[in-house]
Amino acid sequence: MRLENKVALITGAAGGIGREASVLFAAEGASVVAVDLDREAAVAVAKEVNQKGGRATAVGADVSRAADCEAMVAAAESEFGRLDVLFNNAGIMHSDDDDAISTDEQVWDLTMSINAKGVFLGCKFGIPALRRAGGGSIINTASFVALLGAATPQVAYTASKGAVLSMTRELAVLHAREGIRVNALCPGPLHTELLMKFLDTEEKKARRLVHIPMGRFGEAKEMAQAALWLASDESSFTTGATFVVDGGITSAYVTPI
Ligand code: NAD
Repeated sequence: MRLENKVALITGAAGGIGREASVLFAAEGASVVAVDLDREAAVAVAKEVNQKGGRATAVGADVSRAADCEAMVAAAESEFGRLDVLFNNAGIMHSDDDDAISTDEQVWDLTMSINAKGVFLGCKFGIPALRRAGGGSIINTASFVALLGAATPQVAYTASKGAVLSMTRELAVLHAREGIRVNALCPGPLHTELLMKFLDTEEKKARRLVHIPMGRFGEAKEMAQAALWLASDESSFTTGATFVVDGGITSAYVTPI
């Protein structure tokens, strides 16, 4: 098994990518700490993992709050004795996120506090735990929008994911010699609640699909598979990477029709 004897903490564990990653990581031998703002939904994910013969515990936490991030890491160590993998995956895409003129300051602040500060706080408390375990792997969920501009505006979200990407590179360099690897997963547009709520008409979906060479949205499961490789020792020489899993969107100029 690819994550045997490892303890993995996954934030946003009740959502599309986080739930799939919780189930997959556990099936590959990891003990999983499923963290979400929605505690009940995280409990359901942990229950599902345990019913399938895996090991998981649930923690309710808001990743934009330092005390919650400290507590989720403490839970990993008290429940399973160590932390080896930290998947900072929780994120939001606010429905009122727009261009710079129209986006409210509150929307900007909320988005940055969860998507960017949440990753910082996960690392703030997670890195000392990874050190205590003798090293480990951090995966931060950024997005393809950190690499490409779009005419469907979501300025706060895009800026927050740019912050995740650059923070990832710096942390990777800082902690490389401690055996702590830090990589960014950059999903393309996915068929999950987060994006489908934002692209709420067929027209908006079609507008996005035309840019994806594969002609479809990605699945959360495909992101979990990519994260699994980054979490496992198979990626032992990979750090600071911008790991793009996007159906070809960032490589496209003109797509097939
Ligand atoms: P999702 O909405 O299905 O899941 C996100 C989860 O995060 C939810 O369970 C939610 O309750 C939780 N969450 C929200 N705020 C939180 C907080 N403050 N503290 C703790 N948990 C919180 O979304 P998803 O599609 O699975 O997205 C996961 C990550 O992937 C996000 O960072 C998102 O930005 C990123 N991403 C998604 C797409 C896409 O197309 N869906 C594309 C690129 C990147």
